[in-house]
Amino acid sequence: MSSINIVTDIPGPKSKLLMERRVKAVPKGPFHVTPIFVEKAEGAIVHDVDGNSFIDFASGIGVTNSGHNNPELVNSAKKQLDKYMHTGFNVVPYEPYVELAERLNDLVPSQADNKTFLANSGAEAVENAIKFARSYTKKQAIICFDHAYHGRTYMAMSLTAKSIPYKYGFAPFNSEVYRTPFPYLYRSPYNCVNTSDNCNIPCNMDMCVCQRSFESFKETVESQIGHDQVAGVIIEPVTGEGGFMPVPKTFMKLLEKYCKENDILLIMDEIQTGFGRTGKLFATEHFEVEPDLFILAKGLAGGMPLSAVTGRADILESVGVGGVGGTYCGNPVSCVAALSAIEQFTQTNALEHCTELGKLLENRLEDWAKKFLFIGDHRGLGPMRAVELVKDRKTKEPYKEAVSKVIKYSYENGVICIGAGTFGNVLRFLIPLTATVDQLEEGLDIVEQGLETVI
Ligand code: PMP
Repeated sequence: MSSINIVTDIPGPKSKLLMERRVKAVPKGPFHVTPIFVEKAEGAIVHDVDGNSFIDFASGIGVTNSGHNNPELVNSAKKQLDKYMHTGFNVVPYEPYVELAERLNDLVPSQADNKTFLANSGAEAVENAIKFARSYTKKQAIICFDHAYHGRTYMAMSLTAKSIPYKYGFAPFNSEVYRTPFPYLYRSPYNCVNTSDNCNIPCNMDMCVCQRSFESFKETVESQIGHDQVAGVIIEPVTGEGGFMPVPKTFMKLLEKYCKENDILLIMDEIQTGFGRTGKLFATEHFEVEPDLFILAKGLAGGMPLSAVTGRADILESVGVGGVGGTYCGNPVSCVAALSAIEQFTQTNALEHCTELGKLLENRLEDWAKKFLFIGDHRGLGPMRAVELVKDRKTKEPYKEAVSKVIKYSYENGVICIGAGTFGNVLRFLIPLTATVDQLEEGLDIVEQGLETVI
């Protein structure tokens, strides 16, 4: 049975009217990928106000990993709403915050004695992770990477790489932020010949993007800053907005080793990669490294606003009483939703299902790469996957217009998908991880038709 049901032109008349109101009332800054307005959503399906049904390949940018309006999450949130919505953890604390902290402390892939601080958004958690890192190390410099995205508040924006649209016009940015090359295998900053994503083979340093990127990182630390002046390194295990490039394991291990040897904190931004998105609860599990701090959000509470910094207790304890916090930090309704989401990912075969979806997606993208010459690269980890479109496989000139065309074709025909990439030429797949195999296949058929319209 088909999940897609398109009964009007897209956008339909009610969406069009709402868009007119939106344009008048809301500035253009907060963008929208589609011109449709939602009426309700469940599982992998979004129903719009005109009675059309879409398969969702965006999950509200990687948030509804547990499926839209997952009944368990909704029930736990409803029960909590009947008890209390807000007392302020800084005023009258409550159990759901503590219980969630206990769960996250145990679940993150690190052997350390952990503690957790809760906030609201991903960017806010990034801000706080940097505060913890600086407070603990009593050092200032933070290293981040090309193609990184860490959010839109001032520190998070300063750590983000791409200027337009994220930073343009908003300078000055925060100081003591240093950027170094990301080992982007498809677009090696060094014309590296080894573009395999498990760059574990010993190779000539001149040839290996991992070694070269690591050398650049070291040079930044040692000659631009001073190795004893760096508080932390922040990295996404798979770049999100930057275009879904997994960090090569070799590079991640080199980074971890250097950080440990030089008392630099390794801060893993798992905001987009966490909670099943790469087939594991946390993407870090693919790398066999042990970060000092984890930054979590998005899938954490499956759609309720919530974020977390989880990590070494000694680091989190370095901040004095009242040094971090905020009115809404760790809202109790969000906390119970997060506990339900975690229950689903840990108590059921949800992660196996994620892996199955990832495999199917990988096979399909591989087929597309054979069929469509403008697909320059396909990559990812588990079901967090993307294709990078180019005008020419030799020059690798980004083909941004094609991504826009496929996105438009897709939503007009019942699939919501979104782009990514520093050059805007990446089509990424962020399906709700409860989607059925049939829904995934049906959605991919539409996207494939969209790709067929590209010349
Ligand atoms: N870090 C990463 C890796 C992200 O993907 C995002 C959001 N796309 C953020 C930080 C910022 O999160 P938020 O939008 O909740 O502030």
